[in-house]
Amino acid sequence: MALSGIKLALVFAIFLSPSPIKARLIDNLVTMGHNDIIHVNAGDFEKEFHAEFTKYETVNETTNRLSDMIQILRDSKYKMVIVDDIPNAKDPQRCLTCRAVTYSFLTFNSTGVDDDFLEKVAVDLCLLLQLGGTENVCKDQVATFKPMMAYIVKHTENILPDRICGITQQSFECGSIEDLYEEFPVAFQEPTLPRNATSKSSPLTHKSRHNLTILHLTDFHYDPLYAVGSAAECKEQICCRGNVVPHNGAGFWGDYRGCDSPWHTLENVVEEIKRRYSKIDMIYFTGDIVDHFYWKTSTEGNKKSITDLTELFKKAFPECKEQICCRGNVVPHNGAGFWGDYRGCDSPWHTLENVVEEIKRRYSKIDMIYFTGDIVDHFYWKTSTEGNKKSITDLTELFKKAFPGIALYPVLGNHEAHPSNTFAPNDVEGENISTRWLYEHIGDVWSEWLPQAALATLRESGYYSVKLYNGLRVIAINNNFCYHTNYWLLHNSSYFAQQLEWLQEALQLATTAKEKVHIISHIPSNERDCFGPWAREYRKLVEKFSPIISGIFNGHTHEDEFNVFYSKSDPSKALNVAWNGGSATTFAYFNSNFRLYYADLDTFEVLDYDTWWYNLTEANLTPDKKPTWQSYSFAKEYGLQSLSPANLDKLIKDFAHNRDKLFSYWKRKVKYSDAQLSQGCNEQCLTETLCDIVFVEHGDNTKCEELLKIFYS
Ligand SMILES: [Zn+2]
Ligand SMILES: [Zn+2]
Repeated sequence: MALSGIKLALVFAIFLSPSPIKARLIDNLVTMGHNDIIHVNAGDFEKEFHAEFTKYETVNETTNRLSDMIQILRDSKYKMVIVDDIPNAKDPQRCLTCRAVTYSFLTFNSTGVDDDFLEKVAVDLCLLLQLGGTENVCKDQVATFKPMMAYIVKHTENILPDRICGITQQSFECGSIEDLYEEFPVAFQEPTLPRNATSKSSPLTHKSRHNLTILHLTDFHYDPLYAVGSAAECKEQICCRGNVVPHNGAGFWGDYRGCDSPWHTLENVVEEIKRRYSKIDMIYFTGDIVDHFYWKTSTEGNKKSITDLTELFKKAFPECKEQICCRGNVVPHNGAGFWGDYRGCDSPWHTLENVVEEIKRRYSKIDMIYFTGDIVDHFYWKTSTEGNKKSITDLTELFKKAFPGIALYPVLGNHEAHPSNTFAPNDVEGENISTRWLYEHIGDVWSEWLPQAALATLRESGYYSVKLYNGLRVIAINNNFCYHTNYWLLHNSSYFAQQLEWLQEALQLATTAKEKVHIISHIPSNERDCFGPWAREYRKLVEKFSPIISGIFNGHTHEDEFNVFYSKSDPSKALNVAWNGGSATTFAYFNSNFRLYYADLDTFEVLDYDTWWYNLTEANLTPDKKPTWQSYSFAKEYGLQSLSPANLDKLIKDFAHNRDKLFSYWKRKVKYSDAQLSQGCNEQCLTETLCDIVFVEHGDNTKCEELLKIFYS
């Protein structure tokens, strides 16, 4: 049947939401009936949901049953939902939502209703199930993804809810995709290795300033519309855009007119006291915390203010006794900070300029730069080819101006595409569908960094290989294909095989030429939403060619972290390390950072790196001053001679034995974000931190389990 219109646009677009519907296993629940556990059959549920939702759409009636079903999907009313026919579901409510929404939409679509009605259905589902935030966000999502999804539905056979949810919700085990693993068509050969290349080189010497210095930049997420002082918490999923403080608006530090104190003014008072007086024996606080809006007070509001100020005092003056600091109220300043914001905000331009300025100020010798993608902001329902191209051009110009004459090797991030995350097969044509415009654009603006041969494959599909000096080769791959919300996987689950075959060939050529290789890519294998079949095949290549792969460099997670690849056949052998450069953006709940590596000039393995970051809370207190950056050396912090796989293997075991050490790694991983440090890292967080280091392929938890045994011993 010929299909048109928005078709499945919403069904998929809604699951781009960065705030997943969590399975809630919450205590103190009002239970339905006498049992805390409810069993649901997804096959029955999706049909019934569609019947009830049809009444809503056609006779405008919200039946009691529909309300109940929405509660099952959305509310924490139920202690546990078990979906009997999706037994491995890690987030049953999320899986059930995917199945119900997808089924209902596909069924409406198959009845041949017109585009306007389908669009209404899409927006109504989005609003009913609170999947997209505001009505405008729902509408924009539908409009953005409509052409691409219409194409996919029209040109894909047997597109069923189980398969759709299996791919897009892979990390939650929402559907069966085992057959996709079996069908994976890449033909791998055993590599021909030189006789001396069967293992890593002997232990490396400690870093020196004469080593190869590699700057790693990643995840800038420039927000061209960032407005200092705009709402940083809003109904949309990402905020910090909107009305800038008008000229005659309230001043930054307060206002002579009838205004009380913004939060940062109070923080500044406390900071100034701390800065000037190291010895304070006690503090008297003589009351009045709450603002002057006496006609607006409430018990809850006053309690919050008292708590907020108490926390400020406790943090600033740890010796302060609680009873001295227990009364008060402030008007928190909720606007987006000048240098960024821990809440859902991307980077204003001046923050990105400050990053490159700081690098230039601190490092006169940089041999080359790896940029591992994500230039465009997170407003995925607002992107356009023109807007994305402009951001890519702007950031490219910033780099060229800041680092003239320094080789820079870039890869695309998932956010560079429009619609976001979607990288179409090369034979797909059409506006807002094909990815050709993106490859051509980077082929133009990145051309001065790359030789002709590299530009040819870059223009084709966004990947390339470049031979550098002294036997090092950089292989840049476009692995955004593997991301779970690259909806082209629904259309063709193996179209990226060609690139993996190319990668195998490139690694074989490098082996024959006795070269060492750095692989740069955007999405790390420890991203649990990286399509399993891709991750499995990629891991095979990394293992087979590990003697010549000296390092892998990723971005995407925004965390300052690393992953170790172990041999699948012999999990005791640490083979390779993938480094993650963190992010320049503060999205979400992070400090901004950059990294500089020192690599051995013979083996090209990383000997050490420095990560630089600054405290965003403090920086935003003084928007007229540049942030104060600070750094740590990884090797120095952990007493390592080098960062070889073998040394890191020992370190990981150390982490498993020593919770304090693991906690210190977690603090660095979240880049000392106040927002995260204030939440702390409990037992579950620590075990996830540990397992993230060794997780490189969906479904393989061998190393994780091994480490957890040590952790709990
Ligand atoms: Zn990113
Ligand atoms: Zn990304």
